[in-house]
Amino acid sequence: MLKLDSRLDYTNPIFDAHTHGIDTDALDILVEVQKNFGISKAVLICHSLGIKQYADETYPGRFIYAKYFSGSFRFAHGVEPLLKEVATLKEEGYHIAKMQSAPAMRGRASAGPDDLRMDEDEMALFFGAMKDEDLSFILHLSDPDTYYASKYTDKTHFSSKERDLQELEGVLSRHSSMKLQIAHFAAQPETHRLDNLARWFDTYSNFNIDTSSARWMSRELSKDPQKAREFIIKYSDRLHFGTDCVGYTLERSYYKGRYLALRLLFETDVRNDPLPFTDADTVNTGGTHINGLNLPKSVLEKIYWKNATRFFSEFL
Ligand SMILES: [Zn+2]
Repeated sequence: MLKLDSRLDYTNPIFDAHTHGIDTDALDILVEVQKNFGISKAVLICHSLGIKQYADETYPGRFIYAKYFSGSFRFAHGVEPLLKEVATLKEEGYHIAKMQSAPAMRGRASAGPDDLRMDEDEMALFFGAMKDEDLSFILHLSDPDTYYASKYTDKTHFSSKERDLQELEGVLSRHSSMKLQIAHFAAQPETHRLDNLARWFDTYSNFNIDTSSARWMSRELSKDPQKAREFIIKYSDRLHFGTDCVGYTLERSYYKGRYLALRLLFETDVRNDPLPFTDADTVNTGGTHINGLNLPKSVLEKIYWKNATRFFSEFL
């Protein structure tokens, strides 16, 4: 085992609630890096049945398996095939479902900004099927403010972040009986959005959030570390540590950079520490720097382990 960065001294086990499995060799490297950083369990969002079977045979007991649903598929094929996928999910050995429904998916499918909103009637069939199977659901909907300023400017496919957050809030209110993990801090780690996220937490009790991605969280939560720290402490029962590491590359530094960045952010009081990898959104404006939140150990224990193991307790 390699020596961990000397600034990190948290030694209890960590649960990574957001990782992706694509390639088997890459998964081996991801797991090696996880072990080095104290990650002893993880949610693996599987992009094929093959990667799930490989992970299950090679790393028994390590992963909770999420079946991956593409967010663009529904625009081309409708909701019906999704219902069949939900129906076979448990037989295939998956525990939960995950959908990537970022605005980019509308662009990819040439869909309009209001086609098949996640909170509307037709998509309620998909949620109903998951409810029938008693499934938990991880949902990625909406993206960083930076993407709306740069990538999502074509109004034939995209609208505003405010509108996408309304859609996401619509899911929380309409499907209040479902257990939801909303990915990426519910798309609101930006300092000016934390008050709205606080309102959601206070209004809807059916969801937790994860702390992926390392790049997005490091960039935004470091901007006002005092406010971010107070927010995380206040809602520390609702957060799952997650990285969004995607097991597709054999480049060890890719995984290492994500774990190091998030652990520095949560555990230490570093100031202006350069993100250990490139942030494409700030590469031309001085780069992303980490200002550590120095969270109390009792809070780290919750977001690193207790909350996720409670959320996923039936599979552990
Ligand atoms: Zn992801």
